[in-house]
Amino acid sequence: MDRDKMLSNPKETIRVIQENGFTFQKRFGQNFLIDDYVIDKIIRASDIGPDSEVLEIGPGIGTLTQHLAENAGRVVAVEIDTKLIPILEKTLQEYDNVEVINGDIMKQDIGAIFEGRSFSIVANLPYYITTPIIMSLLESRVPAETITVMIQKEVADRMQASPGSKDYGALSLAVQYYSEPYLAANVPPNCFIPRPNVGSAVIRLKILKQPPVSVKDEKHMFSLIRAAFNQRRKTLVNAVRNYEGLAYEREEIEDALTKLGYDVRIRGEALDLEGFAKLSDALMIPA
Ligand code: SAM
Repeated sequence: MDRDKMLSNPKETIRVIQENGFTFQKRFGQNFLIDDYVIDKIIRASDIGPDSEVLEIGPGIGTLTQHLAENAGRVVAVEIDTKLIPILEKTLQEYDNVEVINGDIMKQDIGAIFEGRSFSIVANLPYYITTPIIMSLLESRVPAETITVMIQKEVADRMQASPGSKDYGALSLAVQYYSEPYLAANVPPNCFIPRPNVGSAVIRLKILKQPPVSVKDEKHMFSLIRAAFNQRRKTLVNAVRNYEGLAYEREEIEDALTKLGYDVRIRGEALDLEGFAKLSDALMIPA
């Protein structure tokens, strides 16, 4: 399609919105992209090509979708807002490699859409539900190669934070257990209509075939991690003691930490993924 006619041109976006009498729904996190340069950055970071199959979450009026259709082999876009479906039929009519599903991404059987084949996920995510969407994609181990998404800058910073930094926490550890994060771009509010109240960032998560650490019981490790950061100002021992479902004695946690060579007054924010994996294993195996 001629670039001037694509929706990433702000004039086209405003024309389509006005012509269709569309009103933005705050509850669906609707902030549409109006910046060519940012869309190019997303496409390049996602590393998609003519053989790629792509899942787009929340196509809006089809801005990113048009660019995905030009670059990928097949695009499946899931949009919750029924009012956008007739608009998408018009803005995507030139493309025969795009399929739009009207539904909630949290309720889709994504594996079935791609019949077990690997695919890439690309989206300008609705911010009210960013973390639940990403965590459910990672935890369900859908066969995605990469997840390239526009999210709040503050959430992107937490996803790629390292031990000891103020942004480091349970989300950093969970994301880094399943993927390798790469911050592709920082994006200011004026690249969207309407403008969000916060800065945004494009982050690419390259899904790991194997977790970077081995741990006997993932669930137990993530309970420890949640406990550690639930009360992040406390020592790890105090934060983990009596955390729902864990209920270890102080001595058990202190013994495990000492055996692993840690100070018993250490805080959770000082432990990396390997540290939590080892602590989890040490607590589960009676000495
Ligand atoms: N992709 C478009 C763009 O970049 O201009 C729109 C992005 S906008 C930030 C987020 C989109 O996700 C909106 O179209 C919204 O209606 C849709 N959405 C919100 N919640 C959703 C959900 N649970 N499942 C699918 N789509 C959703």
